[in-house]
Amino acid sequence: MKQIKNDFGWHFDNTYSRLPELYYARQTPVPVRTPRMAVFNEALALSLGLNARALADDQGAAFFSGNVIPEGAEPIAQAYAGHQFGHFTMLGDGRAILLGEQVTPTAERFDIQLKGSGPTPFSRRGDGRAALAPMLREYIISEAMHALGIPTTRSLAVVTTGEPVFRGIAQPGAILTRVAASHIRVGTFEYVATHSDREGIPLLADYTLRRHYPKLVVADNPYLALLHAVMERQASLLAMWQQVGFIHGVMNTDNMAISGETIDYGPCAFMDVYDPATVFSSIDRSGRYAYGNQPNIAQWNLAQFARTLLPLLHQDIKEAVTIAEQAIESFPATFQRHWLFGMRARLGLITEEDGDLNLIETLLSWMQQHEADYTNTFRALTLNKLPDEPLFHEAAFTDWHTRWQLRLDHESTPKESTQLLMRARNPAIIPRNHRVEEALEAAVERSDFTVMERLLTALKTPYDDSPSHRDYQTPPAPSERAYQTFCGT
Ligand code: AMP
Ligand code: MG
Repeated sequence: MKQIKNDFGWHFDNTYSRLPELYYARQTPVPVRTPRMAVFNEALALSLGLNARALADDQGAAFFSGNVIPEGAEPIAQAYAGHQFGHFTMLGDGRAILLGEQVTPTAERFDIQLKGSGPTPFSRRGDGRAALAPMLREYIISEAMHALGIPTTRSLAVVTTGEPVFRGIAQPGAILTRVAASHIRVGTFEYVATHSDREGIPLLADYTLRRHYPKLVVADNPYLALLHAVMERQASLLAMWQQVGFIHGVMNTDNMAISGETIDYGPCAFMDVYDPATVFSSIDRSGRYAYGNQPNIAQWNLAQFARTLLPLLHQDIKEAVTIAEQAIESFPATFQRHWLFGMRARLGLITEEDGDLNLIETLLSWMQQHEADYTNTFRALTLNKLPDEPLFHEAAFTDWHTRWQLRLDHESTPKESTQLLMRARNPAIIPRNHRVEEALEAAVERSDFTVMERLLTALKTPYDDSPSHRDYQTPPAPSERAYQTFCGT
């Protein structure tokens, strides 16, 4: 594999590959035939300290395909385990390579990972590759999440490989460059707990503390503090998902990042009509990862995380279990605190009153009964005048609206500021499935990337109400609603 010396702005450090060899396998990407840039995130490149201009064309495609390894990178495939739909499995990066950690001009550190870069020792029966549509999908949704203000891995580039991948039918192959605070997962802890001696978990926990929670290193019990901090970030993250109607689709423990970022966009999607039972993933037949169940699953995953930390929580294992259980039992209340705070803000409420939860729940159950669009209903509330739709003249709604207006009168904030607050919390534009699919189809079937570029532009300012992007607010027609995403991506 040739390495190129040049001023592309690469500045790698490789702390993860200095951990014991148990944690990963050294592996370089398998070169591809004809890498071409499909989409490149210039703004993100600049913020990483990269030379965006030099990387925008074929030079960039050479790096982002793995054909050329940046100077200083030490490529590895990371080992991890995970509970998939509740069942424990050994996994690891089967189609991804971590190039290393890019250190930015402001001394931040980000994993740079190529997804779809060829087989690794963890590939099992997979081909190590990825198809173009799902990689573009991850690019679109992760960047939309970022613009919405939700912690997430980012997407730096998608390149096409010039090689087909076979997913039932032949599809164009592609590689996504993913940028993450780290790729340490709940499943990474599960892997180390299963595979190593007594030193393994403290080593990984210390590494994680230093990297993501440095202030906690000096806590009385840093490991208990780590557990609480991870729970806090997940509670906050899940509250944000629920607030925007984001459904992850495969909340396996290997798809939950210890950093608190949303990670691994597979069969994920945004909900249109409000319904807690919404599931998009074709393989989730029991609805384990349905919208309304996501907070419970987060708690379940965090319990798996806590289990790996038990030996560090107390010398006496019974004590340790009690401590862990207490922590995990506090998750629903922590989640509820974050969620309620966010939902109040969506209704323009800054102060807290006892009836607020009921006010919110009444609106949600009205939406469910009337199959109202989740995003547009909240957005409509931010306008001076409600849209003239039969739905908003419905008696149960007008009753609720009067009640909400009375509640708003208890706020000392002027109406105009309330509306501004609400507009900054209730997105006008989300990546609606039918529009995402339309963009992917144009790209994959006709090599037309302009549909996606226009969608990406609109998604950059989701809280703006620009007339030129108003068409993205239209919900899918009933015929477009029966949307499913498929795994084996
Ligand atoms: P995911 O559902 O994308 O989170 O992936 C679950 C596991 O399957 C991970 O260990 C992936 O690396 C692995 N995997 C998914 N697709 C492939 C593939 N095409 N080739 C090899 N491994 C894969
Ligand atoms: Mg995964």
